[in-house]
Amino acid sequence: AFGDGSAFGRRYESTATASASPPAEKYEYQAEVSRLMDLIVNSLYSNKEVFLRELISNASDALDKLRFLSVTDPEILKGAEMDLDIRIQTDKDNGIVTITDTGIGMTRQELVDCLGTIAQSGTAKFLKALKDSKDSGSDSNLIGQFGVGFYSAFLVADRVVVSTKSPKSDKQYVWEGKANSSSYSIREETDPEKLIPRGTHLTLYLKNDDKGFAHPERIQRLVKNYSQFVSFPIYTWQEKG
Ligand code: ADP
Ligand code: MG
Repeated sequence: AFGDGSAFGRRYESTATASASPPAEKYEYQAEVSRLMDLIVNSLYSNKEVFLRELISNASDALDKLRFLSVTDPEILKGAEMDLDIRIQTDKDNGIVTITDTGIGMTRQELVDCLGTIAQSGTAKFLKALKDSKDSGSDSNLIGQFGVGFYSAFLVADRVVVSTKSPKSDKQYVWEGKANSSSYSIREETDPEKLIPRGTHLTLYLKNDDKGFAHPERIQRLVKNYSQFVSFPIYTWQEKG
C-alpha cells in the first residue's frame, strides 16, 4: 500500500472541503504543554536538527511496540501485513518533511493523551528543571539537555499534521497543531487516498527560516547519524521536482 507513495507529500492538506467528513474537534493543550510549546516555538535554541532524532526515535518506539505486541497477539498484524520500517520524504519546493512509520499508531484517545498532555517522564523532568531554573536565559539550553520529544517538531515547523491508525481502532485520525496556538484539533481521516493500513504519518510544514531541512541531502546526512541507533530500516525519498 505504500508503493504508490499516495500517502506522502504535498497532497496532505487539512483545509476542510465540502465533503461529508465529520468536523474536526478542537482541544486545548494541558497548561504545561502550552508552556512547553511556547518555549520551543519562541526559543533561540540553535540545535534545531534534534527534531529529527526525536521523531525517528518515536517512530522506532512505535515499531518496537508493534513487534512486541505481535508476539503474543499475532492478530494485531491482520489486514496490515507491512514491513516494519520508517520512511522520510522531503519536498524542498514546498518546505515539507514527512515521516511515516508502520508501527503501533494511536487511537483518538491516545492522540489526546500523548500529544495533548505531558504524561511521559522526559518532558516532565524538563518542566521541573525549567521551574527550578530562575534564570530564564538558560531555558533554551534545557531543550538540548532533556529533549522535548514530539514537541520538538515545533522547533522547525509552524504546522504539524499527524495522521495515525492503530490496530485497536477501525478508524484513522488526524491530529493537527500550529505553532503559537493553545489548541489542536483531531478529526477522522476520510479521504481514501490518505488512509494507511497501520502506523503514523507525520507532516511537518517548515517555518520559512527552516525550509533547508527539506533538502534531501541535509535529511540524509542527519538520518545517517541517527540510524545507527535504530533497528528498523529508514528510507529517504524526495518529491519529484
Ligand atoms: P516519549 O517518546 O518520551 O514518550 P514524546 O513526546 O516523544 O515522548 O512522545 C509522546 C508519546 O506520543 C509517545 O510516548 C507515544 O505514546 C506517542 N507517539 C509519538 N510518536 C508516535 C508514533 N510515531 N507512533 C505512535 N505513537 C507515537
Ligand atoms: Mg519520544
